[in-house]
Amino acid sequence: MRIAALRGPEAFEIESAPVPAIRSDEVLVRVAVSGVCASELEPWVDGPPPGEVRYPGHEVSGVVAELGTEVTELEVGDRVGVWVTERGFAEYVAVRAAYCFPAGDGPLDEALAEPLACAANAVEAADVRLSDDVVVIGAGFMGNLVQNLVALRGVRNLVVADARPDALARAAALGATRVVDVTQEHLPDVVRALTGGRGADITFECTGTQGALVACGETTRMSGKIAIVGYHQGPAREVPLAYWNWMAFTIVNAHFRDLATILRGMSIGMRLLTARVLSMDGLVTHRFPLERINDAFATLRDKPEGFAKAVITFPHE
Ligand SMILES: [Zn+2]
Repeated sequence: MRIAALRGPEAFEIESAPVPAIRSDEVLVRVAVSGVCASELEPWVDGPPPGEVRYPGHEVSGVVAELGTEVTELEVGDRVGVWVTERGFAEYVAVRAAYCFPAGDGPLDEALAEPLACAANAVEAADVRLSDDVVVIGAGFMGNLVQNLVALRGVRNLVVADARPDALARAAALGATRVVDVTQEHLPDVVRALTGGRGADITFECTGTQGALVACGETTRMSGKIAIVGYHQGPAREVPLAYWNWMAFTIVNAHFRDLATILRGMSIGMRLLTARVLSMDGLVTHRFPLERINDAFATLRDKPEGFAKAVITFPHE
C-alpha cells in the first residue's frame, strides 16, 4: 500500500509499505478520507529532526476491510470514523475495534472523528448553558465546529469573530447571531453592546494565537469562562493575569489527552453527525489525492479564500 512519510521540511514522500497486520481485537480499515490537521502544520513546515521520519495522519474515516478474530461488533463493509494517532495518510490503517465509530450513510469526508471529538469535548468542558451569551473567536474549521455544537445547546447571542470576510460569511451562514470582522469593529465593544455591558458568559478561543487569547479577557464577563480550543505552539503566550485574576475567570483548557475522554467525544460527535443533528455541510473545502499531500499542507498554510479544511481522499472510495 501507499503511505505518506514526512522526511524533511515541507517534504512528504509517498512510500510503499506492507498493509498493516491486525491483532485479534483490531480491524483493518481501508482509508477513504484523512484530514489535514492544523496541529500537523508546524511539524510539516519544520520537518522531523535530520535522519528521522514521521508518519502523521490522525483524522481517518473509511470502510472496514478485515476483522480480527475477536471482533464481533463490526462487519466487513461497515463505514466508520476512527481514532488513530499516526500513519493515517495511508491506504490502510489497523485500528482497535473499540476505536471505530459508525459513520452511517453520510459522506465519509465529514466523518472525521478526531476533530469532532475535540469540538464536542470543548463544548462539554465549557458547559455551555441555555441562554448563555457566547463568543467564538476564530471561524476556521474548529471554530465552525464549536459554533455548530454551541448552537445545539441553545444560546442567546452566538458571536463569531475573525479577520477573514469569507470565514465570517461561512459563520453567518452556519447561524451566528452576529459576526464581527475584527479589522473593522472592536469586538469587546460589540459584545458589551449585545450583553448590556456585561460581557459574554463564555468565550471560545479557536485560533491558537496570542492576540485572540488576550481578546478573550476583553470579551468575557466577570466570573465567566474562557475556553482555549486553539492549539498554542511556539513562543510562550502572555496574558494580563492580574486582570484575569481579578475578573475571576474560569480557564477551560479544551485540550484532551485522556483516552476515555477522547473516545467519549468521538462517540458524541459521530452520534450527532450520523443522526444529522450536527451538520458539517460545506466545512471540508479542499480535497487532494495522496500524491498531492504537500499541496494539501501548503493550502492549510496559505488559507486561500474560502478555505476551511483540507482532506486527503483515496480513489477506491
Ligand atoms: Zn486533528
